[in-house]
Amino acid sequence: MEEWVSATESEYLVAELSSFFGQEAERLLGWLSSFGADPAGGVTRLLYSEAWTAAQLALAERMAQAGLTVVFDRVGNLYGRLIGEDSDAPSIVTGSHIDTVRNGGKYDGVYGIAAALLAVEQLIKRHGKPRRTIEIVSLAEEEGSRFPMTYWGSGSITGFHNEDSIEGLTDADGVTFREAMEAAGFGKSEQPASPRSDIAAFIELHIEQGIVLEREKLSIGIVSAIVGQKRFAIEVTGQANHAGTTPMLMRRDALAAAADMVRSIREAAVRCGAPLVATVGRLELEPNTPNVIPGKTRFTVDVRHDNEEKLQVFCREMLGELEAIAGVNGVELTFSRWMDAKPVPMDGLLSTWTEEVCRRHGLSYQHMVSGAGHDAQMFQRICPTAMVFVPSRDGISHSPSEYTSSQDMGTGIFVLAQLLYLLGYAEAYKGVV
Ligand SMILES: [Zn+2]
Repeated sequence: MEEWVSATESEYLVAELSSFFGQEAERLLGWLSSFGADPAGGVTRLLYSEAWTAAQLALAERMAQAGLTVVFDRVGNLYGRLIGEDSDAPSIVTGSHIDTVRNGGKYDGVYGIAAALLAVEQLIKRHGKPRRTIEIVSLAEEEGSRFPMTYWGSGSITGFHNEDSIEGLTDADGVTFREAMEAAGFGKSEQPASPRSDIAAFIELHIEQGIVLEREKLSIGIVSAIVGQKRFAIEVTGQANHAGTTPMLMRRDALAAAADMVRSIREAAVRCGAPLVATVGRLELEPNTPNVIPGKTRFTVDVRHDNEEKLQVFCREMLGELEAIAGVNGVELTFSRWMDAKPVPMDGLLSTWTEEVCRRHGLSYQHMVSGAGHDAQMFQRICPTAMVFVPSRDGISHSPSEYTSSQDMGTGIFVLAQLLYLLGYAEAYKGVV
């Protein structure tokens, strides 16, 4: 394997580079978190907001300083391109999303962009022009925090979203998606259209947002797949009645039945084991009054697994069990499945290469499933895609307490730089694309 820092070079150099990357990443993320610093804590950088625009423009300037060719596409995705010798060859693209949730942390998404910038700067410094073009992308939107839609940035690039996707969407203040996009300076026909058919591979470096790597004391997570998700709305109908005059065995209590159902879902999920997870996240009841037996209960179930068949079997058995519980309790059950996203496996060869990089440099790692959705799942639709995780302290994310140590960030950037070298500079890319 052709590497830019080979295993035969001193370990010292690897440690030195990782520590340099970590310190620089801390500085960059500190700077970027000033765009949208929320007085209530954390960072709020919603799509097309002033803070969002300021962050994208500042990044564009920083990319230009690094010698990259800067381009915004029509929806506001920002690219910094390092043009390769073979400028016609499809590009290697790396990056993540610039938007945040409300009062989010300063690592989610933007770490992958800062990391890409630092890795590419080092590659330029040490190796100059790549064989093929390497692009850093700061994706417009992933979180769905302002408008009721997610993956607007990566979805626009990969053909999953288009103008029709935003039709009729408004934010909490009644501003339409299009108005917001135009106010930020995008959506103009003279701007480059978003869909791309010239991407050879995509790599996303991201914080884990979970507790696995920290618990296992590992530096790197190599994502084998992003889980599929099925979500159900369940409605249990019994009979609302007097809490004092209805004997216990003559009740049709919609909440008592729902409680048995929630317990059975949890027990089935524990029996099934990781990586399956099932969550009842919302529960409403009617009439929700202290002295009335609940007549109706509605709840949601969110089930995730990286294997579609196992996910289907679990859901089928779960619904069968809920029906049985409804029968025993004398209540009626109706359900609808309102979300069905298939699992997305990441590229096998890129995973193998990531593992090889970790192994050669003595970096601790494990293969793992991503329980959260990411831009990478959009890109895997159009090109080989790899996703790499670094640890999150206490597994916390989407919070001002989100934190990843400088050392862990540095190690992740080192791995990213090696992968970009392999794909952009070395001969090895021919095996992939
Ligand atoms: Zn993210």
